Amino acid sequence: MTAAATDVVVVGSGPVGLTLSILLAQRGHAVTILERQPEPYPLPRAVHFDHEVGRIFQAAGIGAELAETSEPADIYEWRNGEGTTLLRLGRVGLGASGWPLSSMFHQPTLEVVLERRAADLGVDIRRGSAVVDFSQHHDVVAVATDDGRVVDGRYLVGCDGANSTVRTLLGVPMTELGFFYDWLIVDVVLHDDRVFEPLNVQICDPARPTTVSSGAASITAAVTLVAERTARPLNSPMRAISVAGIFSFSLPWLKSRPLCTPSTNPIAMKKSASTFPNP
Ligand SMILES: Cc1cc2nc3c(=O)[nH]c(=O)nc-3n(C[C@H](O)[C@H](O)[C@H](O)COP(=O)(O)OP(=O)(O)OC[C@H]3O[C@@H](n4cnc5c(N)ncnc54)[C@H](O)[C@@H]3O)c2cc1C
Repeated sequence: MTAAATDVVVVGSGPVGLTLSILLAQRGHAVTILERQPEPYPLPRAVHFDHEVGRIFQAAGIGAELAETSEPADIYEWRNGEGTTLLRLGRVGLGASGWPLSSMFHQPTLEVVLERRAADLGVDIRRGSAVVDFSQHHDVVAVATDDGRVVDGRYLVGCDGANSTVRTLLGVPMTELGFFYDWLIVDVVLHDDRVFEPLNVQICDPARPTTVSSGAASITAAVTLVAERTARPLNSPMRAISVAGIFSFSLPWLKSRPLCTPSTNPIAMKKSASTFPNP
C-alpha cells in the first residue's frame, strides 16, 4: 500500500471545488486544491441561489458572510418588447431552511469568502497549478500539473468547470446541443443608491432579448443578446458605456416601465429588514 500525501485532490477552486473542500475538511479530511488561475477571477458570473444552497453554504460555515453579501430576490418578471408583463414569478419569503427562497449574490465575493474559510480549515490551495494528467496506482491517484509536479491523493475530484480536464481525461462523454449565441455582458456599479423593481427582469423582445439582474451589494449585471453576427465590435469600453445607458432609461422598454427609482422608496429597506438564520 502506498501512502498518499493528501486524502482528496480537488481540481478547480470555483464555488463547487471550494465548497466540497470545506465540507471535507470540516470532517477531518486532508484536501489539496489545484487551481490553474494564479489569481481569483474578478468578474461576476453566477448571480442566484435558492434556500437549499443557502443551507449548504451555512453548513460550510459561511452563513454570516453570505447573509451580509447577498440580497433576497422576491420577484422575477418577464416582459414583452412593449413593456407588458407576461409572467411574474414570486419566490417571496423564507424557505424551510430559514434562508430566503431566492437570493442574488456576487460570485467573486462568494469565492473570496469560500477561499478564506477553506484556508482557515487548513485546505492546501495551490494556485497557478494546471492539472494536465493523472494516473491511478492501487489506492493512490497521481495528479500531474503543468509545472512538472505530481500530487498523490487517495481520491481525485474534478471540479474544473464546463471544459473540465478531468472529465476529458476520464473519457466521460458530454452531449453538445450546439446552442450558442453572442451576449454582451455589462456589469455596473451604481454611484447612487437605487431601488430596482423588480429586482430581476427578462425583456422578451425578439429584436434584442435582454436580462437585467441584481448582482447584490449594489452591483447590477445587464446582459444583452446581440442580434449582430459577432460580439467582437461591441466588446469595447465605448460600447459598454452606451449599453450601460439603459440605467438612464434610454431603451424603449425602460422608458415605458422604468426598472429603478432613487432609493427614497421604502423598498430600499427591504434588504436590511430581511431575516437570516444564525450560522
Ligand atoms: C461570462 C459568464 C457568465 C455567467 N453567468 C451566469 C449567470 O448569470 N448565472 C449563473 O447561474 N451562472 C452563470 N455562469 C456560470 C457560473 O459562473 C458557473 O456555473 C459556475 O462558476 C460553476 O462553478 P464551478 O465551481 O462548477 O466551476 P468554475 O467556477 O468554472 O470553476 C472551475 C475552476 O477550475 C479551474 N480549472 C479548470 N481547468 C483546470 C485544470 N486543468 N487545472 C486546474 N484548474 C482548472 C478554473 O480555472 C476554475 O477556477 C456564467 C459563467 C460565465 C463564464
